[in-house]
Amino acid sequence: MSLHGAYDPDNIFAKILRGDIPSVTVWQDDHVLAFMDVFPQSEGHVLVIDKASTARNLLEIEPEALSRLALAVQRTARAVEKALKPEGVSILQFNGEAGGQTVFHLHFHVVPRWSGRELKGHGHAPMADTAALKALAERIAAQLD
Ligand code: AMP
Repeated sequence: MSLHGAYDPDNIFAKILRGDIPSVTVWQDDHVLAFMDVFPQSEGHVLVIDKASTARNLLEIEPEALSRLALAVQRTARAVEKALKPEGVSILQFNGEAGGQTVFHLHFHVVPRWSGRELKGHGHAPMADTAALKALAERIAAQLD
């Protein structure tokens, strides 16, 4: 998938938004959804997406939606920091297959980091246990401002 092309309404995040496949929600409002990455690169890896935009990547997103998304990423990162006390937080975002993107609905990764704990490979991490993800999501959600 290149940087250009049509939005696929059957991409996995579109299916999550429609409720066709399950996900573990951290928080949501009318515009954005924050949910647990099921193949987490570190403990507490959260994804943040816009609910309505069909932007596949950062180049395509409408300015208003991007502004909302940026605030949602910050709100999520702050809650992750309070809940899990990482030493750092990486905000990751990939565009186009050659850029490392695997799901073509724009999203930001919020990845807590600890020195001495190696990040699991992007797209190569093992699938997490749903109960463990739910417990993490509850801890993070409890710290939202
Ligand atoms: P990217 O490679 O930047 O497009 O990121 C896509 C992310 O979606 C990866 O970190 C995957 O682990 C994650 N992912 C794929 N399928 C699911 C799913 N069903 N639920 C939650 N996260 C997913």
